Amino acid sequence: MKAVNKALKIFNMKNTRLIQLFNDFLSIIYPNLCLCCDKVMITGEKYICTTCIVGLPRTHYHLTKENPVEQLFWGRIPIEKATSFFTFQKGSRYQIIMHYLKYKGLRGIGVEMGRIFAAELNKTSYFNDIDFLVPVPLHPKKERKRGYNQSLAIVEGMAINIKGKIVSDNLHRKSHTESQTRKGRYERWENVSTLFGVYSPEEFNGKHILLIDDVVTTGSTLEACAQTLKNCKNTKVSIATLAFASI
Ligand SMILES: [Zn+2]
Repeated sequence: MKAVNKALKIFNMKNTRLIQLFNDFLSIIYPNLCLCCDKVMITGEKYICTTCIVGLPRTHYHLTKENPVEQLFWGRIPIEKATSFFTFQKGSRYQIIMHYLKYKGLRGIGVEMGRIFAAELNKTSYFNDIDFLVPVPLHPKKERKRGYNQSLAIVEGMAINIKGKIVSDNLHRKSHTESQTRKGRYERWENVSTLFGVYSPEEFNGKHILLIDDVVTTGSTLEACAQTLKNCKNTKVSIATLAFASI
């Protein structure tokens, strides 16, 4: 009997990890538990329960003049408008949203969060003159590994609720960038500023582009993208990200 118990114990220990993996797998296929609070969700709720959506630490920057995301680009690149949906704090229950979006293959959460974000933006006239919704391109290698560009997922969700045509194949990340580790500060900046390119500038000429990313921290990637877009004739650039992580 003792031997049987011991065997069962080992079996259970090994299976805790297996069960965890299986649950992770199930939660991706059948997202019936809220990712943030683990409570069972009701019909109509997707990935995150209504209580957690209500409690999301919104920035309300689209209602704030000269908000911190806009300020991030002052003296760097002229931006029309810039905002983020919520504040990203390490250790918060909302951190898991970005984790699932970027590392656990849950593309759908990007679409859903983008949809909710844009529904709230749409209550105001903040982004009412946007022509194109453009995701920050991912390095092709990274995109192959992840299977998708998380920024495009957010864009697809946002397009449900705000005007603007999705253009994801014009702004692109150049695939051959040398290692930046041995470069000086100026060279590094120069290198970042040439990371992106536009295949057909005429498509963007005279247009107002909403550049979209998952998170903004220092703003250097968005700045480099905006710089590339502004090389097109009379292009206006605005910025929206799901999360704002202040440093
Ligand atoms: Zn919840």
